[in-house]
Amino acid sequence: MIGRVKKLFNTVFLIEIGKGLALTLRTMLKPAVTRQYPREKRKPFAGSRGLHAMRRDDSGQKERCIGCGLCEAVCPADAITVITAEGPDHEKIVSSYELNLLRCVFCGFCIDACPVSAIQMTPEFELACTSRKDAFYTKERLVKIGDKYMGGKG
Ligand code: SF4
Ligand code: SF4
Repeated sequence: MIGRVKKLFNTVFLIEIGKGLALTLRTMLKPAVTRQYPREKRKPFAGSRGLHAMRRDDSGQKERCIGCGLCEAVCPADAITVITAEGPDHEKIVSSYELNLLRCVFCGFCIDACPVSAIQMTPEFELACTSRKDAFYTKERLVKIGDKYMGGKG
């Protein structure tokens, strides 16, 4: 009975509409949170998952990747292709490393799986491109990104 009276009271005096309007007014008085991109950019934050980068090894002469293929195996989107070959001293070399950003879902599994922390993520999030080719990141491109964001160091 009390519930029905309360409901009737709310209906007659438009209480819920009044509450909604009050909330709207309160929100209108708060400063806007919309950023005027690209003039205003969000600052990078710890743990942000942006474009991948490849670190250099301790000598700084070549990529840190050892071609184990764990990142390729763990990637749920099949975005990474690692091809290895035999080097001049019968050592294993990474002849090709390719990341297809069109497939990547930025889950970060490849970063977690890498045993030598060769592949990392940067805060770079402006990844728009006008051709499919630009979305394919080769080993050389990834090393250049590593140089830019990590000074090529581990
Ligand atoms: S972030 Fe995830 S989807 Fe992207 S390449 Fe790494 S494992 Fe694959
Ligand atoms: S980036 Fe890391 S996980 Fe991927 S192949 Fe190279 S060493 Fe292995």
